[in-house]
Amino acid sequence: MDYIGSVLLGQPAYKILKSQAVRGSLSHAVLVTGDTMLTGEFLKLAAATALCPNFGCMECSDCRRALGGTHPDVLSYPQGEKFAVSDIEKLIEDAYVRPMEGDRKVLLLHGCESMNASTQNKLLKTLEEPPRGVHMFLSAANLYDLLPTVRSRLRLLELRALSPEVISGVLERGGADRESAARAAALCGGSLDLAEQLSTKKGAGCAGLCAEILERLKDEGGTAYYAGEAAQYSGGYSRTFLAAMQQQLRVLLRLKNRLDVPGFTDAQKKEYDRTLNQFTNRAIIEIISYTGECALGLHYNANFGMTVDGLLLKILSAKRGAARSAANTASAL
Ligand SMILES: [Zn+2]
Repeated sequence: MDYIGSVLLGQPAYKILKSQAVRGSLSHAVLVTGDTMLTGEFLKLAAATALCPNFGCMECSDCRRALGGTHPDVLSYPQGEKFAVSDIEKLIEDAYVRPMEGDRKVLLLHGCESMNASTQNKLLKTLEEPPRGVHMFLSAANLYDLLPTVRSRLRLLELRALSPEVISGVLERGGADRESAARAAALCGGSLDLAEQLSTKKGAGCAGLCAEILERLKDEGGTAYYAGEAAQYSGGYSRTFLAAMQQQLRVLLRLKNRLDVPGFTDAQKKEYDRTLNQFTNRAIIEIISYTGECALGLHYNANFGMTVDGLLLKILSAKRGAARSAANTASAL
């Protein structure tokens, strides 16, 4: 079993699943939400637990094959990157074929946020009345990516965010050097997916640019310059850019309010000294929520360049507001 798997065994979500299995009341349709990297591993643990005669010993042949992805009674969907209606048609067909070995069969549905409404509707009946011995384990980044009618037919489990120490351990085992692993772990807000991206050279540059924008953006010339710099993150890194900006703002908010930032060294905290007084608490909170809207916009194919322009203007006007109110306070005194 790999490191992430052993960390997941200690999470409440897994303990709930295991105790259901031991009691003989394992739900037939379970949805787990959390980071993509974590939920992928969790589905393997769930499959092992459903098939193992000892409810997930993680050592027997059923467990090892379920974890290794070679168990003939564990089937995974979708076939491509995203769910298509044809995946659900195949799944329904597979569900009615008897298991190859025991009396149980496990269907794993990875990344259900990629299902559109008609695909989800097609799945409804099977979720409601799966054939005997069939267990379906679904994963999604976010619970609200699924229709209420689908959600209501699932037992819901939520994975917890990982600590910076665990995240940096995962990154180091994946080949990142110690320093970039620790920095990415401190800046990812508990998201392993974001940490993975931030530990790459490009991702670290992205986080650095976000910090620089918050510190140095001063005028309209700056917004044009930084819009140009951010353009290199359009495409595959556009969500990383927004997530990194959101995390930088969260760090700022914590430091501004003298709260500890898990995983941060004193030297890292000092890097924010010049930025802290340029924002009010309220402005930081507003920009955090704005970045959330931006991320949703990108999800619906908004243009990255225009999104960044809007964000830079928002940051600039927040800084001007803070400077004005500081000047007003000074003159009143
Ligand atoms: Zn076992």
